[in-house]
Amino acid sequence: MNQKWLNNMNVYMKVWLKKRMIPQQWQAAKEVIKKIEHAGFEAFIVGGAVRDHYLQKENNDVDIATSALPEEIQTIFSQTIDVGIAHGTVIVLDCGEPIEVTTYRTESTYSDHRRPDTVEFVRNLQEDLKRRDFTMNAMALSQTGEYIDYYDGRQHIDSKVICAVGEPDQRFEEDALRMLRAVRFAAQLHFSIEENTFDAIRKNAASIEYVAIERIQVELSKIFISAHAAFGIEYMEKTTLSNFLNGDFTSSDWTRFYSEDRQVGWAYFCLVNGSDLTLLTKYRCSNKEKLFVKTVLDAYESLLSGISLADLMRFDPMILKTAYQFSIWQNHKLELSYEQLVARKNTLPIQHVNELAITGKDLLEWSPKKRGSWIKQTLDAAVEAVLNGKVQNDKQQLKEWFYAFHDEG
Ligand code: ATP
Ligand code: MG
Repeated sequence: MNQKWLNNMNVYMKVWLKKRMIPQQWQAAKEVIKKIEHAGFEAFIVGGAVRDHYLQKENNDVDIATSALPEEIQTIFSQTIDVGIAHGTVIVLDCGEPIEVTTYRTESTYSDHRRPDTVEFVRNLQEDLKRRDFTMNAMALSQTGEYIDYYDGRQHIDSKVICAVGEPDQRFEEDALRMLRAVRFAAQLHFSIEENTFDAIRKNAASIEYVAIERIQVELSKIFISAHAAFGIEYMEKTTLSNFLNGDFTSSDWTRFYSEDRQVGWAYFCLVNGSDLTLLTKYRCSNKEKLFVKTVLDAYESLLSGISLADLMRFDPMILKTAYQFSIWQNHKLELSYEQLVARKNTLPIQHVNELAITGKDLLEWSPKKRGSWIKQTLDAAVEAVLNGKVQNDKQQLKEWFYAFHDEG
């Protein structure tokens, strides 16, 4: 093999790798923009993707803003989904990945502190960027990689500050959700909230009550699972936003907490609120989350009171791990390390009630009694006896144990 051939291969490999590393969404977004430009309109990547691009963070949620009207977008592309034409959004499918394309728009008055009364399409990018919440979210990026940054977004990112676009007081009065978004971005990026923006949040904090609870739940979840949850919760306290929301937000509770799983976040939130599960209903968490939280908090209680073998069997390792983490974050000293706990779990004679060698049907055969709560009680007792080594998990032995148990009972 000659050297030239090797060099060529190297170049090809690099180009191939680079292509592979460009997230497909970005590639598709660029193609969409080129097509819109070809049709004589403007189009830019906007919002969170631009912010994260500048921060060199991955963001596959690439949105495009354009001077073309939704109907014009529908004539440029052959495969589109009309998701909210009234708000100017069309999803374009032509370029491999679904890309959201939204017509430049301005927003009118906000009489409910949440949604604009009307939305008006405009042909000017600056107008569109002006309605966005924070300077770091109000930048645009051309398909050639050029930033359009009318509100010093990059400078604010460099100095790690979250700064409202325009007059902060007015912006939070228009849409109260922005206040919680500011805190959420602070928690995710470890940025501080610029002074005027901060003061305006404090001033308008009470109006967070106008925001739909589902939206609040989404933002709180993002704060819980952010890289700097305690920092975010501290902002909840300092801005006084926490005074207008259910539950206590005490940053010192969160200093050791870290999780990327929102249900773990909600479980911990309930825990530091005296294991108050009603918070999950208040914030409209899902039933799946409610069940998870209840189980984790049960496991936590069990761990703290010296876990029984039945509980050690009952809780799956993921639940035990979460509960164990909570005990550490809450400064409890447990007798066993997590590894020891798992080792003990793994040596249990059965790992699940289903592994018990007998069922309710056997009990009914062995006893003249009719169906009733005694079956579950007996099976629980059998599990306990097997776990404690009093009887082996064998049908015949359990039958003998049952008769002995029965006679006693
Ligand atoms: P993430 O990366 O978490 O999705 P994001 O900034 O992309 O963050 P989105 O909710 O996806 O947040 O919104 C996309 C863009 O829309 C934002 O970057 C911002 O420019 C604008 N935006 C979203 N919500 C608001 C709001 N409440 N007020 C003003 N502009 C908003
Ligand atoms: Mg986004």
